[in-house]
Amino acid sequence: MQNILNYINGEFLEPQSQEWLDNYEPSSGKVYSKIPNSDERDVALAVKAAENAFPNWSKTTIDERSSILQRISESILENLEILVIAEAKDNGKPESLARAVDIPRAASNFKFFSQAITQFSTNAHESVGLNAVNYTLRKPLGVVGCISPWNLPLYLFTWKIAPALVSGNCVVAKPSEVTPMTAYLLSNICHNAGLPKGVLNIVHGLGTTTGQAIIEHPNVKAISFTGGTATGEHIARTAAPMFKKLSLELGGKNPNLIFADCDYDKMLETTVRSSFANQGQICLCGSRIFVEASIYDKFKTDFVNKVSQLNVGHPSSKDTNVGALVSKPHLEKVFSYIDKAETYGGKILTGGNKVTVKGYEDGYYLEPTVIEVSSNDCKLNQEEIFGPVVTLMPFKTEEEALQLANGVRYGLAATIWTNNLNRTMRLSSEIEAGIVWVNTWMMRDLRTPFGGMKDSGVGREGGFEALRFFTEPKNVCISYE
Ligand code: NAD
Repeated sequence: MQNILNYINGEFLEPQSQEWLDNYEPSSGKVYSKIPNSDERDVALAVKAAENAFPNWSKTTIDERSSILQRISESILENLEILVIAEAKDNGKPESLARAVDIPRAASNFKFFSQAITQFSTNAHESVGLNAVNYTLRKPLGVVGCISPWNLPLYLFTWKIAPALVSGNCVVAKPSEVTPMTAYLLSNICHNAGLPKGVLNIVHGLGTTTGQAIIEHPNVKAISFTGGTATGEHIARTAAPMFKKLSLELGGKNPNLIFADCDYDKMLETTVRSSFANQGQICLCGSRIFVEASIYDKFKTDFVNKVSQLNVGHPSSKDTNVGALVSKPHLEKVFSYIDKAETYGGKILTGGNKVTVKGYEDGYYLEPTVIEVSSNDCKLNQEEIFGPVVTLMPFKTEEEALQLANGVRYGLAATIWTNNLNRTMRLSSEIEAGIVWVNTWMMRDLRTPFGGMKDSGVGREGGFEALRFFTEPKNVCISYE
């Protein structure tokens, strides 16, 4: 068993409390590592270290910062296999997914922002007639807090840290207590890549203690948070009186609108993936599938057929399509929706059972589950389940499809399947979602803004949006005779 340590001021430290938390391996249900149960004393040390490092780090050149980020990116790829296995053990996701998506994307996050910063500049304006020139500086904020969830652990952790660091901030970061291992391995990578001490501090522990201490600390100027909507609301309430800058990437209940005129085979194959990738635990997964009535029965048969062929298994097995859910409490939460599906007005078409995987009987496995519903108002369609569970429902007209898509408190992502250009333009303009995919899913260009509307969040990450968030604009007006 490996003990995880905090990374503060360039040192690997035990928690002040000397208390440790068990971290479980979802695929076996066994304890995998012990993590520091950090409290406000560890966070105070981390903030102090970041404050001390800020004057020097914020004055390094873009070249200096970019080349350290490049080294981190390369080192992630050099350690790819170690990180893949750690991520799959910690999270329960198939190793194949971590190898194809999670870890390469973490490396890309550092590489992308090391390059994006070189293009990030502002305009100057000559105020003709006033004899003045205005230009805008973008200054780093100081110490910023980055708090991330468990579903894409290293991918989302680095999506925040990389733009924060490259724009000259010093960071106090907390990964999810459920999946801390790759963030710990990253602290070694950053240390060896020559990141100066105190520039990045990683503190492990519970949200309610460690996370709470970060959001409450008056010297943390901004919080970049990804996680649940209820936690986001709590962070907003806590941070508002201190006027902290906030980026909140929250929950979703994403609609998938399927029209009869789409490319059926591509749609079917992609919809299986968008429903169950990472055990359905991606904030972008389509969880409400609405299908035009004329192809509803055909889709239902074909979809259920394909879903029932997905292999639930151990993350290390090459045949595994669906791994383990992240934790026992999460498995029970997801299962409670399935258990009450009929009470909520749903009919289970396939799946619905916990799975016992031979040799890993205590793991947290669940069959991919498809539930037919007759109303968008039921709990199955209104609440974020965040597991391998999707609902199906037919619609008759485009107007009805739009109403169904928007009839929910969330507004993160939406997918539309159609070959009708006018319909594409109408719907993509009217759908209440920060991200709309047409005839594809989860195609990501890191330059594009990423985030949600309604209860799915505030602000955007990605590209220059992230660099804008992590910097403060300051206008300078120079008058001349
Ligand atoms: P969560 O809100 O429980 O926890 C997220 C992080 O916040 C963890 O590190 C946790 O320790 C910390 N935290 C909890 N309470 C805190 C507090 N009081 N103060 C400070 N930090 C605190 O979410 P989760 O269960 O880890 O992740 C699942 C959720 O994340 C889902 O709702 C999912 O939709 C959402 N998510 C959203 C996006 C997005 O980009 N919009 C991406 C991935 C996941």
